[in-house]
Amino acid sequence: MTLDISGQTRVVSLPEAPRTWQLLIDGKWTEAADRRRFDRQSPAHGVLVGDYAQAGAADADAAIAAARRAFDHGPWSHLKGAERAAVLRRVGEAVRNRIEEFAVLEVLESGKPIVQARAEIAGAADLWDYAASLARTLHGDSYNTLGDDMLGLVLREPIGVVSIITPWNFPFLILSQKLPFALAAGCTTVVKPSELTPGTTLLLGQLLQEAGLPDGVVNILAGYGNPVGQRMIEHPDVDMVSFTGSTGVGKAVVRASAETLKKVSLELGGKNPQIVFADADLEAALDAVVFGVYFNAGECCNSGSRLLIQKSIAEDFTAAVIERARKVLVGDPLLETTRVGSIVNQAQFDKIRGYIDDASTAGAVVRLGGRRTGPGSGLFLEPTVIDRVSANMAIAQEEVFGPVLSVLTFDTPDEAVELANKTLFGLSAGVWTRDMDTAVQAARRIQAGTVWLNSFMDGYPELPFGGFKQSGLGRELGRFAVEDYTETKTLQMHLGPRTNWWLGKPAATTT
Ligand code: NDP
Repeated sequence: MTLDISGQTRVVSLPEAPRTWQLLIDGKWTEAADRRRFDRQSPAHGVLVGDYAQAGAADADAAIAAARRAFDHGPWSHLKGAERAAVLRRVGEAVRNRIEEFAVLEVLESGKPIVQARAEIAGAADLWDYAASLARTLHGDSYNTLGDDMLGLVLREPIGVVSIITPWNFPFLILSQKLPFALAAGCTTVVKPSELTPGTTLLLGQLLQEAGLPDGVVNILAGYGNPVGQRMIEHPDVDMVSFTGSTGVGKAVVRASAETLKKVSLELGGKNPQIVFADADLEAALDAVVFGVYFNAGECCNSGSRLLIQKSIAEDFTAAVIERARKVLVGDPLLETTRVGSIVNQAQFDKIRGYIDDASTAGAVVRLGGRRTGPGSGLFLEPTVIDRVSANMAIAQEEVFGPVLSVLTFDTPDEAVELANKTLFGLSAGVWTRDMDTAVQAARRIQAGTVWLNSFMDGYPELPFGGFKQSGLGRELGRFAVEDYTETKTLQMHLGPRTNWWLGKPAATTT
């Protein structure tokens, strides 16, 4: 449903001039070496909202050198866990104090609704607190069982300089799934946000300085994947890359990192099924299916973009989904009532539209939406439901990253699981049934990093997140999140006189 904005006021008025930003390198705000700049229009409103220094390869080199110095010479990498935790907690608190400023920035650059943006920023602040708690509990292991003459210690050391590359769909939340955990481990970093949404990452840079983070520990480069991201991956002084984005670029990251064999952590795409059995709480499933696919306009790696519905209820349930989807309020993301905002840019809009057209050509039926909608010049797309999709169609296989639900049907639990697994992705899945056996057996067999039973897309800092198959490498969050940014060192300590002489004990040795 397109919003009727008469009588509603935006939470802020649109900016009259774009906010200007510089790069953060070695604790100093600076222009790019070649003085280039780029800008960003709000995709929902068509006005200029950001004007950024545009980093190039020389700036990437300077930022990496600063991070390297800060790591090798400290003090950050040598601080006590409690001291690092104190800084991270201060950052979390500072973000909470400025939620509205962060949220409005995200709305203007990304097009997402303000209500959702506020919740994301609050959730991100919580991640800084959680990382602070892990900074104090990070520890290795000890082996006191190797004999009287040997003590074995397993040490966790910060891995070093980490390149963090983030996308545009959840700019601050995804950054906060990475950066505080890298910092908790004692690493130093170079961060490159998507050029579509750099604002909140740059704003964080100011807060990090106010919180007392030493110079060079976090360097922030607004700029393009090529050349900045590429340099951040290839550079020999970088020890690890943490990337979230498309599976295609994720593979390019692995290739680019091969020459220097650095550790790579990847959070990539998904084609996530929501499996609804006839015995489910159908009202709950209905709400979650509509939320799961239209949340963030479907620009979400976790998007529940495939509805797998048991044949006996397929027609009634699909009709109910369509009815409910009609009620989703699409429009100006600066209104409190909006639930779905703008698509991030014209290229993404065209890509989504292309998938919808191709699905029709392939024989699927568009039963709802598929068209551009108002208000104004914003890139708003109607919530879309595509029925009669078969598993081999592109719309059932590829990440559309838009508000588009594909409906597929099954008869038996075995068929449901087979369909669920029939993509190259394996990020997440939802299973809806009141039968515990069906639920748990399906959850065990589905190839996905997260399976929700009778729920969808909730997340907690305590629970690891990441993908099977081509959805990624490694996990974020959870109690091992900080360990991901460490190297393991084995320390073997011999105690007392040598006991394992290789060439026999020398005669002169009396003990
Ligand atoms: P990308 O995967 O291209 O971009 C993610 C980040 O990687 C951005 O910061 C980007 O910079 C950077 N990047 C791009 N190319 C390189 C490179 N060669 N080396 C290093 N860094 C690079 O996502 P897009 O923004 O282009 O979106 C394209 C598609 O990706 C979407 O349609 C969607 O399907 C999918 N996507 C998936 C996401 C997910 O979480 N699973 C998130 C975002 C997108 P720059 O901004 O300059 O491109």
